[in-house]
Amino acid sequence: MQDPTPTLWLVATPIGNRGDLAPRAVEVLRSVAAIACEDTRHSRPLLAAFGIERPLVAYHEHNEREATPKLVARLSAGESIALIADAGTPLVSDPGWRLVDATRAAGIRVSAVPGPCAAIVALTLSGLPTDRFAFEGFLPAKAAARRARLDALAGESRTQVFYEARHRIVECLADLASTFGSTRRAVVARELTKLHETVYAGTLAELGERIGACADDQLGEFVVVVEGLPEDAAADAARLAEGRRLYRALAKELKPSAAARIAAEISGAPRRALYGEAAE
Ligand code: SAM
Repeated sequence: MQDPTPTLWLVATPIGNRGDLAPRAVEVLRSVAAIACEDTRHSRPLLAAFGIERPLVAYHEHNEREATPKLVARLSAGESIALIADAGTPLVSDPGWRLVDATRAAGIRVSAVPGPCAAIVALTLSGLPTDRFAFEGFLPAKAAARRARLDALAGESRTQVFYEARHRIVECLADLASTFGSTRRAVVARELTKLHETVYAGTLAELGERIGACADDQLGEFVVVVEGLPEDAAADAARLAEGRRLYRALAKELKPSAAARIAAEISGAPRRALYGEAAE
């Protein structure tokens, strides 16, 4: 029996294997006045499989600003509402933080039924250090923006976790290898908890080659986990990333030699490494 206190419940659902829906998730989902979900057509079959017949309300990235006050009004009127995502933990690369913020600001309880999250499953399967990690979500879709983001992350010493879409996985691994270095260790986790689950470990170059060569390995959903740099190398890499950023800006106005000299002086990166950038 659920506590009758009006509550916004954040309920995790499976990332591919229905057996992973927790018993408490089922209990909460059966008890609420409504379930807010990203795509009602997507969530209905899962809920039906567990005999959960509650009204569904659309809550997704395109309507979250309008839908938030409406849900808070229902909570304020005494109803309990559950928020689920298409898969996994809501709010992780999915909408919801505005609703949590507004609900708590209205003095209403927010609680969670935790469960699957692709980032955490991939991290734990990676065999890379888990004591500190950075979740980076999806990289920008446009090549220049993605490359700039990766340049800024190349010096990170924590293990990094990325989500990636199937049509960009090969490109993503190539960009990671060119910015982080082809020998950096990484893991590509595909179709986690599903029939075709695969977890490949290797250097970024090896993974790019392996996945690029096999069309089947490019199907499904992906998480990429990348080893962080050791602390001292991280400081060098941060200087290099800053140097490259400066070089690119300065080279628009100055000769390459002058741009490299000034970028090296400001960032502390070796000038020759920036010339490498100039030649690319
Ligand atoms: N909220 C979800 C979670 O807790 O993991 C993530 C939602 S995000 C919109 C969807 C992305 O998560 C996919 O593009 C993929 O990168 C990753 N993902 C979700 N399920 C996955 C799975 N079974 N195997 C690998 N990656 C998965």
